[in-house]
Amino acid sequence: MRIGHRPERDKRITTHVGLVGRAFGASGIMIDTPDEKIEKTLHAVSRNFGGRFSVKTGVKWLPEMRKWKREGGAIAHLTMYGERLDDVMPHILERAKESKNLMVVVGAEKVPKEVYNLADFNVAVGNQPHSEVAALAMFLDRYFSGKQFTKNFKGNKTIVPCERGKKVIKAEKA
Ligand code: SAM
Repeated sequence: MRIGHRPERDKRITTHVGLVGRAFGASGIMIDTPDEKIEKTLHAVSRNFGGRFSVKTGVKWLPEMRKWKREGGAIAHLTMYGERLDDVMPHILERAKESKNLMVVVGAEKVPKEVYNLADFNVAVGNQPHSEVAALAMFLDRYFSGKQFTKNFKGNKTIVPCERGKKVIKAEKA
Protein backbone atom coordinates (compact mmCIF):
# COMPACT_ATOMS: atom_id res chain seq x y z
CA MET A 1 0.00 0.00 0.00
CA ARG A 2 1.48 3.27 -1.16
CA ILE A 3 0.05 6.27 0.70
CA GLY A 4 0.32 9.93 -0.23
CA HIS A 5 1.14 9.45 -3.93
CA ARG A 6 1.25 12.77 -5.79
CA PRO A 7 0.99 11.82 -9.50
CA GLU A 8 3.21 14.56 -10.92
CA ARG A 9 5.85 14.62 -8.21
CA ASP A 10 6.05 10.93 -7.29
CA LYS A 11 5.44 9.14 -10.57
CA ARG A 12 8.93 7.62 -10.85
CA ILE A 13 9.27 6.71 -7.18
CA THR A 14 5.80 5.15 -7.00
CA THR A 15 6.50 3.22 -10.20
CA HIS A 16 9.71 1.99 -8.60
CA VAL A 17 7.82 0.95 -5.45
CA GLY A 18 5.65 -1.18 -7.76
CA LEU A 19 8.60 -2.57 -9.74
CA VAL A 20 10.50 -3.49 -6.60
CA GLY A 21 7.38 -4.99 -5.03
CA ARG A 22 6.83 -7.17 -8.11
CA ALA A 23 10.46 -8.21 -8.53
CA PHE A 24 10.94 -8.90 -4.81
CA GLY A 25 7.95 -11.19 -4.34
CA ALA A 26 4.85 -9.06 -3.58
CA SER A 27 1.60 -10.08 -5.27
CA GLY A 28 0.32 -6.58 -5.97
CA ILE A 29 0.30 -2.89 -5.19
CA MET A 30 -2.45 -0.54 -4.04
CA ILE A 31 -1.97 3.20 -4.48
CA ASP A 32 -4.21 5.76 -2.83
CA THR A 33 -4.40 8.27 -5.71
CA PRO A 34 -5.88 7.34 -9.09
CA ASP A 35 -3.04 7.07 -11.64
CA GLU A 36 -3.74 5.33 -14.94
CA LYS A 37 -0.19 5.87 -16.23
CA ILE A 38 1.36 3.86 -13.40
CA GLU A 39 -1.23 1.10 -13.88
CA LYS A 40 -0.30 0.90 -17.59
CA THR A 41 3.45 0.92 -16.92
CA LEU A 42 3.29 -1.86 -14.33
CA HIS A 43 0.90 -3.98 -16.41
CA ALA A 44 3.24 -3.65 -19.39
CA VAL A 45 6.16 -4.96 -17.32
CA SER A 46 4.12 -7.99 -16.22
CA ARG A 47 2.97 -8.60 -19.81
CA ASN A 48 6.58 -8.73 -20.95
CA PHE A 49 8.32 -10.32 -18.00
CA GLY A 50 5.52 -12.42 -16.53
CA GLY A 51 4.12 -13.09 -13.10
CA ARG A 52 0.75 -12.09 -11.70
CA PHE A 53 0.96 -8.64 -10.15
CA SER A 54 -2.22 -6.76 -9.37
CA VAL A 55 -2.26 -2.98 -9.60
CA LYS A 56 -5.06 -0.90 -8.07
CA THR A 57 -4.98 2.87 -7.86
CA GLY A 58 -7.49 5.25 -6.27
CA VAL A 59 -7.74 2.98 -3.22
CA LYS A 60 -9.13 4.51 -0.02
CA TRP A 61 -6.31 3.43 2.26
CA LEU A 62 -8.05 3.73 5.64
CA PRO A 63 -11.15 1.57 4.89
CA GLU A 64 -8.89 -0.82 2.93
CA MET A 65 -6.50 -1.25 5.87
CA ARG A 66 -9.42 -1.76 8.28
CA LYS A 67 -10.97 -4.35 5.95
CA TRP A 68 -7.60 -6.10 5.59
CA LYS A 69 -7.35 -6.48 9.36
CA ARG A 70 -11.00 -7.59 9.73
CA GLU A 71 -10.22 -10.35 7.24
CA GLY A 72 -7.29 -11.50 9.35
CA GLY A 73 -4.43 -9.93 7.37
CA ALA A 74 -1.40 -8.39 9.06
CA ILE A 75 0.04 -4.94 8.35
CA ALA A 76 3.67 -3.81 8.47
CA HIS A 77 4.26 -0.08 8.09
CA LEU A 78 7.77 0.94 7.07
CA THR A 79 8.93 4.03 8.93
CA MET A 80 12.23 5.31 10.24
CA TYR A 81 10.51 5.76 13.62
CA GLY A 82 9.67 2.07 13.95
CA GLU A 83 11.30 -0.92 15.62
CA ARG A 84 14.50 -2.32 14.18
CA LEU A 85 13.98 -4.61 11.18
CA ASP A 86 16.10 -7.42 12.62
CA ASP A 87 14.30 -7.28 15.98
CA VAL A 88 10.80 -7.32 14.55
CA MET A 89 11.17 -9.66 11.54
CA PRO A 90 11.01 -12.88 13.64
CA HIS A 91 7.62 -11.70 15.00
CA ILE A 92 6.39 -10.85 11.49
CA LEU A 93 7.42 -14.29 10.23
CA GLU A 94 5.71 -15.92 13.23
CA ARG A 95 2.54 -13.95 12.49
CA ALA A 96 2.77 -14.93 8.78
CA LYS A 97 2.25 -18.56 9.80
CA GLU A 98 -1.27 -17.68 11.00
CA SER A 99 -2.24 -15.06 8.42
CA LYS A 100 -0.84 -15.50 4.96
CA ASN A 101 -1.75 -11.96 3.88
CA LEU A 102 0.74 -9.28 4.77
CA MET A 103 0.22 -5.68 3.68
CA VAL A 104 3.35 -3.52 3.63
CA VAL A 105 2.64 0.21 3.84
CA VAL A 106 5.02 2.89 2.60
CA GLY A 107 4.46 6.64 2.60
CA ALA A 108 5.46 9.51 0.35
CA GLU A 109 5.09 12.63 2.47
CA LYS A 110 4.09 12.71 6.15
CA VAL A 111 2.13 9.58 7.03
CA PRO A 112 -1.10 10.05 9.07
CA LYS A 113 -0.95 8.75 12.64
CA GLU A 114 -3.82 6.27 12.04
CA VAL A 115 -1.34 4.25 9.98
CA TYR A 116 0.99 3.88 12.98
CA ASN A 117 -1.95 2.82 15.14
CA LEU A 118 -3.51 0.39 12.69
CA ALA A 119 -0.22 -1.30 11.76
CA ASP A 120 0.62 -4.51 13.60
CA PHE A 121 4.29 -3.69 13.11
CA ASN A 122 6.01 -0.32 12.60
CA VAL A 123 9.31 -1.32 11.07
CA ALA A 124 12.46 0.76 10.63
CA VAL A 125 15.05 -0.19 8.06
CA GLY A 126 17.66 1.72 9.98
CA ASN A 127 16.51 4.75 12.00
CA GLN A 128 17.66 7.29 9.42
CA PRO A 129 15.50 8.88 6.72
CA HIS A 130 16.04 7.39 3.26
CA SER A 131 13.74 6.02 0.59
CA GLU A 132 10.56 3.93 0.41
CA VAL A 133 12.09 2.02 -2.51
CA ALA A 134 15.17 1.00 -0.51
CA ALA A 135 13.10 0.27 2.62
CA LEU A 136 10.70 -1.96 0.67
CA ALA A 137 13.51 -3.84 -1.07
CA MET A 138 15.32 -4.54 2.19
CA PHE A 139 12.13 -5.53 3.98
CA LEU A 140 11.00 -7.97 1.27
CA ASP A 141 14.47 -9.45 0.95
CA ARG A 142 14.50 -10.26 4.68
CA TYR A 143 10.88 -11.46 4.58
CA PHE A 144 11.51 -13.90 1.73
CA SER A 145 15.14 -14.64 2.74
CA GLY A 146 16.34 -14.06 -0.83
CA LYS A 147 14.16 -16.88 -2.24
CA GLN A 148 12.16 -14.35 -4.29
CA PHE A 149 14.99 -14.30 -6.83
CA THR A 150 14.53 -17.96 -7.72
CA LYS A 151 10.88 -17.45 -8.72
CA ASN A 152 10.03 -18.36 -12.32
CA PHE A 153 7.90 -15.50 -13.66
CA LYS A 154 7.12 -17.44 -16.88
CA GLY A 155 7.24 -14.25 -18.92
CA ASN A 156 7.18 -13.60 -22.65
CA LYS A 157 10.76 -12.57 -22.10
CA THR A 158 13.17 -14.36 -19.78
CA ILE A 159 16.53 -12.89 -19.00
CA VAL A 160 19.36 -15.38 -18.84
CA PRO A 161 22.07 -14.33 -16.40
CA CYS A 162 25.34 -13.91 -18.25
CA GLU A 163 28.78 -12.53 -17.58
CA ARG A 164 28.66 -9.88 -20.29
CA GLY A 165 26.07 -8.50 -22.69
CA LYS A 166 22.36 -9.31 -22.71
CA LYS A 167 20.75 -12.69 -23.23
CA VAL A 168 16.95 -12.73 -23.48
CA ILE A 169 14.81 -15.70 -24.47
CA LYS A 170 11.46 -14.92 -26.05
CA ALA A 171 8.59 -17.34 -25.45
CA GLU A 172 7.22 -18.92 -28.61
CA LYS A 173 3.71 -17.75 -29.50
CA ALA A 174 1.16 -20.60 -29.46
N1 SAM B 1 8.81 12.55 6.37
C1 SAM B 1 7.93 11.46 6.19
C2 SAM B 1 7.33 11.01 7.53
O1 SAM B 1 7.64 11.59 8.54
O2 SAM B 1 6.52 10.08 7.52
C3 SAM B 1 8.67 10.29 5.51
C4 SAM B 1 9.00 10.52 4.07
S1 SAM B 1 10.03 9.27 3.34
C5 SAM B 1 10.77 10.09 1.98
C6 SAM B 1 8.88 8.26 2.49
C7 SAM B 1 8.72 6.87 3.02
O3 SAM B 1 9.95 6.16 2.98
C8 SAM B 1 8.27 6.74 4.45
O4 SAM B 1 6.90 6.97 4.61
C9 SAM B 1 8.67 5.29 4.76
O5 SAM B 1 7.67 4.39 4.32
C10 SAM B 1 9.94 5.12 3.94
N2 SAM B 1 11.17 5.23 4.75
C11 SAM B 1 12.09 6.21 4.72
N3 SAM B 1 13.08 5.99 5.57
C12 SAM B 1 12.80 4.80 6.18
C13 SAM B 1 13.45 4.01 7.15
N4 SAM B 1 14.60 4.36 7.71
N5 SAM B 1 12.87 2.84 7.51
C14 SAM B 1 11.70 2.44 6.97
N6 SAM B 1 11.04 3.16 6.03
C15 SAM B 1 11.58 4.31 5.64
